[in-house]
Amino acid sequence: MAQSSQTTSPLSFDTPEAVIAAYTQINLVGGERVPTAAALDVVNPATGATLGQAAASDAAETDTAVAAAKAAQAAWAATPARARGKIVAEAARAVAAHSEMIAQVLARETGKAIRTECRGEITVAADILEFYGSLGSELKGQTVPFNPRMLTTTTREALGVVAAILPWNVPLVLGALKIGPALVAGNTVVVKASEEAPFATFLMAEIMMQFLPAGVLNVVNGDGANCGHALTHHADIAKITFTGSEAVGETIYKVAASRIIPASLELGGKSPMIICADADLDKAVAGAISGMRFTRQGQSCTAASRIYVHDDLYDAFMEKIEAQLNTLVIGDPLDEATDVGTVINQKQMDVIQGFVAKAEATEGADILRFGTLPADADLAPDLFMQPTLLAGLDEDHPCVTQEIFGPVAAVQRWSDYEDVIAKANGTHYGLAASVWTKDLSTALDSTSRLNAGYVQVNQNLTIQPNVSYGGFGRSGLGKEASLEAMLEHFTRSKTIVINFD
Ligand code: NAD
Repeated sequence: MAQSSQTTSPLSFDTPEAVIAAYTQINLVGGERVPTAAALDVVNPATGATLGQAAASDAAETDTAVAAAKAAQAAWAATPARARGKIVAEAARAVAAHSEMIAQVLARETGKAIRTECRGEITVAADILEFYGSLGSELKGQTVPFNPRMLTTTTREALGVVAAILPWNVPLVLGALKIGPALVAGNTVVVKASEEAPFATFLMAEIMMQFLPAGVLNVVNGDGANCGHALTHHADIAKITFTGSEAVGETIYKVAASRIIPASLELGGKSPMIICADADLDKAVAGAISGMRFTRQGQSCTAASRIYVHDDLYDAFMEKIEAQLNTLVIGDPLDEATDVGTVINQKQMDVIQGFVAKAEATEGADILRFGTLPADADLAPDLFMQPTLLAGLDEDHPCVTQEIFGPVAAVQRWSDYEDVIAKANGTHYGLAASVWTKDLSTALDSTSRLNAGYVQVNQNLTIQPNVSYGGFGRSGLGKEASLEAMLEHFTRSKTIVINFD
């Protein structure tokens, strides 16, 4: 096993390589870097080279993190709520101060472009943590007019130890959405990092740990079958919060049900974007490109991956979006000139190409690819992919109904408003949706009828602090990013009745 640098503070790493070396085969447990017996390779998707070895935690190693979190929980919950918030806010500011190093690590492990994606991600993650840090005072209960001779109140209590399980696509933002509210509400946390991209999560968390009592925040890494399984099945886990695939979400929900503990699930989507005949075309084109997260290779749960364009605008829309997609620079994620980096791994690329092959095999389908693949000899070519639009598909085609999680969007024509609303609501997902129109009646009517947890008009914003975010249907359960999310998903309500007769 390679030696980890026990002496380097997370506040003073001088290179991304030093960060990765320090977290070689390491979990963060009880405020310490704790070596594990086994390791798994983390690959830089842009070069194909092994980036480092992360911990491959077994059940016993995972259990130690839960034990540390459990030992720390009572004292943390007893810390005044506003004081907890101030600590989390201070930690958030330290994360922000080290954002460049965290972004550099993230770009290496995810293949996402440093300029268009990674810097923005850590900035938003720190902002979410700081937002939650300001909410300690909001953990209020109620007084209830039950009986004048009985003081009846409700209080908000922490749940205990929270397991936070992260995917690889946006691990820092999705981690902050779980760590921030869980800690401010008085819970302690065990994060399971994504085994595909763990190191930036470790760095963000260890920076936070400099401000938190030992054991309040812990991070383990490993695969789902061993580490994830052990964590979700641990008797001392009081709540599971998960972002990832539908299949694993379903498994986790069953585990939570068997233990009668709450679970929040964020499981992806196939989000529709409806462009009406009166839409501002330039804004709609820009919104389609940003909404589809083409600079993240489309690896986003909210990706606007079904673009419904009114017949009157269709040709002009296609002309403009093609011109703009062709300007995106696909290349080395670390190059400041790059807009689009790589897909995460070969397994995901195979899934994406499998969908494209189905479109290619469909009569009447148009497969439109944009931009130029990089020719740089230092880069491994396999995981770079051109932004791709699929046109001319039937509404029940798998590329229109299923999440692809890659840079591939279906573009569909429409002319009948009732029909497009029905089509937009026609999948089993319900995460996000957008409508592009200047007409107030259309905006009001469509937003009330679209079956999605996050509906926007004339924009496709990503996750924002203070804006509740979460899916309907098989997109998941529960909200994130808001006060409501902290109160509903990271606390329990206790009723106290005092008879003073
Ligand atoms: P995944 O669901 O396989 O893994 C997500 C996390 O769950 C990882 O940390 C993994 O180790 C863990 N895990 C896996 N099995 C587990 C188990 N049995 N018990 C506990 N934890 C377990 O997702 P992924 O491999 O990161 O991505 C695969 C697919 O998931 C993608 O193709 C995409 O469709 C979807 N996805 C969705 C989102 C989203 O934001 N909704 C994010 C990433 C991936």
